[in-house]
Amino acid sequence: MMASMSTSIMWFRRDLRLGDNPALVAAADAADDVLAVFVVDPRLWGPAGAPRRAYLLASLRSLAGRIEGLVVRSGDPVDVVPSLAVEVGAREVFCAADFGPYGIQRDAGVEAALAKTSGARLVRRGSPYAVSPGLVLTQQGHGYQVFTPFYRAWREHGWAEPAPTLRGIDWRRDLSGDELPEPEIPEGMYLPDAGEAAARRRWHAFLETHLSHYAEDRDRPDLDITSRMSVHLKWGEIHPRTMLADLRARRGESRRRYETELAWREFYADVLARRPESAREYYRPELAQMAYAEPGERFDAWREGRTGYPIVDAGMRQLRSEGWMHNRVRMIVASFLVKDLHIEWQHGARHFMRWLVDGDLASNQHGWQWTAGCGTDAAPYFRIFNPIEQGRRFDPSGDYIRRHVPELRHLPTEELHQPQHPIVDHAAERRESLARYQAVRNQSPEGEVRPV
Ligand code: FAD
Repeated sequence: MMASMSTSIMWFRRDLRLGDNPALVAAADAADDVLAVFVVDPRLWGPAGAPRRAYLLASLRSLAGRIEGLVVRSGDPVDVVPSLAVEVGAREVFCAADFGPYGIQRDAGVEAALAKTSGARLVRRGSPYAVSPGLVLTQQGHGYQVFTPFYRAWREHGWAEPAPTLRGIDWRRDLSGDELPEPEIPEGMYLPDAGEAAARRRWHAFLETHLSHYAEDRDRPDLDITSRMSVHLKWGEIHPRTMLADLRARRGESRRRYETELAWREFYADVLARRPESAREYYRPELAQMAYAEPGERFDAWREGRTGYPIVDAGMRQLRSEGWMHNRVRMIVASFLVKDLHIEWQHGARHFMRWLVDGDLASNQHGWQWTAGCGTDAAPYFRIFNPIEQGRRFDPSGDYIRRHVPELRHLPTEELHQPQHPIVDHAAERRESLARYQAVRNQSPEGEVRPV
């Protein structure tokens, strides 16, 4: 390498792709060559859970197949990134902005450490969202607390066109990294194909086969027609801007509906960025006062798909076999944990984060809070899902239950949704839930649980 050559660093995190990647475009513009880096951060690696770790490793292998010289190092990014910057003499480290509670703090630490060690800058370009958190504001300049007005304002705000995909980047190849650990895939689990090419394949297949009836059938786990793009979005193997650009060419209710779902993801990221404590604490604090049960044997039965309620058990077993669960069923099992077993949402959210390959703090914690009746837009607490009725309505063919609960396969569809040796009686637990809710209402000054 000639002494006059300059190197910039592209620090990959949740953006494991080459296409439509503004930080990468900026990194390539800034210097003669680019060092591609991924840091395995123990603070994130441990809590991620085996399925998400295995998926990430597969995605990194796929990225390494396209970037000769990708350096993977393990350690605290506050140490690893500045020392790499010194090693290659980089003046700038590029990355996509992270708006999660830990990501903000980590990046501030890296920024300060870079300034101290070599004077290099951390440059944030783009984010995992079409519209970054903090940009969609009311006329008074506040963030939104309710989805529908957020959605309108989000559309009005608009988003950039996809960034150009560069060909022939000069990657810096002379540094070595750490060996990628071997993935430990839980027994019996099947993980989807990982990487940018797999993400695009799945996206285009969805556009051609299922988008046209998405609005009608998205709530039907038996039909299984949703896009399953959540895992690819989680790891940034595709950017939502790319997807929104493709959707623009389509017409109809389904296209609008799909766009709305992408907007939920952006809404929750925005809410979490403004209220980082809502990752752990009740968004509507009143419901924190309710009487809850400690997680015990019933919690174990829920986790293992042994509640005796077929649709709940099917969902919990799908989570264990695929690292994914259909959205309607996520709501059913979450409601069951909180309102039939009276266990706080945080326990369920943590279990989901351990098993989901698409586990995303903003969507997961707020999906749970919504279902538990304490989140944004929360459905009133007293609207309690009946797991038998939900099963009949959304899995009318029974195929979803048959797929995941083999011991019930022999049953005719009319009997399939009936509980089999249930651990609790839904009608009784519903009454109990309402009584606990009423007790909280009675304590509140106005005799009701106020929305914030
Ligand atoms: P599609 O129906 O094809 O939707 C397209 C995309 O829109 C999804 O990939 C996702 O990015 C976004 N989206 C759809 N629904 C939602 C939603 N309700 N909230 C936010 N974004 C949405 N989603 C995650 O990505 N990670 C999670 O950890 C997560 N945990 C959840 C926990 C609970 C209790 C609930 C009720 C929902 C959770 N969701 C989560 C949202 C939703 O269930 C998944 O995004 C969806 O099931 C993913 O499947 P899909 O890609 O086929 O969805």
